[in-house]
Amino acid sequence: MGKLSGKTALVSGSSRGIGRATALRLARDGALVAVHCSSNRAAAEETVAAVEKDGGRAFSVVAELGVPGDVHELFLALERELKERTGTTTLDILVNNAGVMGGVDPEELTPEQFDRLWAVNAKAPYFLVQRALAHLPDGGRIINISSGLTRVANPQEIAYAMTKGAVDQLTLHFAKHLGPRGITVNSVGPGITDNGSAVFSDPEAVAAMAGYSVFNRVGEARDIADVVAFLASDDSRWITGSYLDASGGTLLG
Ligand code: NDP
Repeated sequence: MGKLSGKTALVSGSSRGIGRATALRLARDGALVAVHCSSNRAAAEETVAAVEKDGGRAFSVVAELGVPGDVHELFLALERELKERTGTTTLDILVNNAGVMGGVDPEELTPEQFDRLWAVNAKAPYFLVQRALAHLPDGGRIINISSGLTRVANPQEIAYAMTKGAVDQLTLHFAKHLGPRGITVNSVGPGITDNGSAVFSDPEAVAAMAGYSVFNRVGEARDIADVVAFLASDDSRWITGSYLDASGGTLLG
């Protein structure tokens, strides 16, 4: 019996990267996992197939976040699929992972780019939490993926880091609000983490990025997934409202 047997989980943005590794890990621990993506259903189905190959259970839900009606659309699909598989719409674990980065000169960033970052990275997680509250049982888990960039300066990512600062505030205040229900709310802050994108195939770039960690390597998606799995489990029951630095010591300077 895995630590999450009988539990259900939604991992937003789990068609690839950290989200995919998280879906795999939570499913390995026994959870039935909703694998969510924006539009790339084929990639989400690849995650589902990988979970099933591993002996786990998962299904995909597609909904673009950051557009009007986003959370409603996601939950309509989620509720339908959960009901079909479990007979209820109980959601034990919500992982707010989906996010977009900026990478724009701070003097060039447009209001439209700024709004998009906020809509996907901060507004959507807020309303996913709000919508999930009707489905989360007492003792449920909310895990928000933040970023080490809330602690170190990178001018190319000011607006992105601002959205992740907002995610940490979401964590802090909802943790107090949901304490009476035994629901824990925590943030995980990755450092540079290999998400399978092209830059991680460039040895020179990887060597430079590795230098930020005291372990002299870039993070693997499963490094983050394992931290999320801990927070999703009963082992973390006494931790709420916290920011867990999962940057391989990047913040140590
Ligand atoms: P990826 O870019 O590899 O994957 C992003 C995931 O989010 C995909 O599943 C994608 O779906 C989904 N997604 C993106 N935009 C939307 C949207 N508008 N609506 C719905 N889903 C969306 O991300 P990472 O694995 O790199 O990052 C995961 C989280 O970790 C993010 O919140 C990121 O900010 C954070 N983080 C990452 C770091 C890193 O170095 N990788 C460092 C610090 C924090 P689809 O496939 O359909 O596009």
